[in-house]
Amino acid sequence: MNIALIAHDSKKELMVQFCIAYCGILSRHDLCATGTTGKMVEQATGLTIQRYLSGSQGGDQQISARISCNEIDLLLFFRDPLTPKPHEPNERDLLRLCDVHNIPVATNIATAEALIHALERGDLDWRQLVNPA
Ligand code: PGA
Repeated sequence: MNIALIAHDSKKELMVQFCIAYCGILSRHDLCATGTTGKMVEQATGLTIQRYLSGSQGGDQQISARISCNEIDLLLFFRDPLTPKPHEPNERDLLRLCDVHNIPVATNIATAEALIHALERGDLDWRQLVNPA
């Protein structure tokens, strides 16, 4: 499965801790991330991550493009709901595209935990039936 990771600045450490905790599961999948999120997770876990630009530089849109092409099976996007971001319209579009393409998406760690266990149990395998590529 292709898994995309994005974390706002105040949630990056949480994303790192999450990825350390679930490193074993994540290592069996193809990972991509926005720039700084990917760098921090890579350094902390040794996982191989395809890194895109930072969110503010268009990294969200690069991930959006992959979602549009049905190339992402799961998005973990740890958002900071309290701090406005200049690239918020792009982030809204990213989440809209997840709904358009039925991509499982977690915007906080509680949902991410549920989804990572679902992934491990094989509950998300239906994605590969609709997207065999
Ligand atoms: P970053 O981008 O991982 O490069 O910080 C994510 C964001 O904050 O939008």
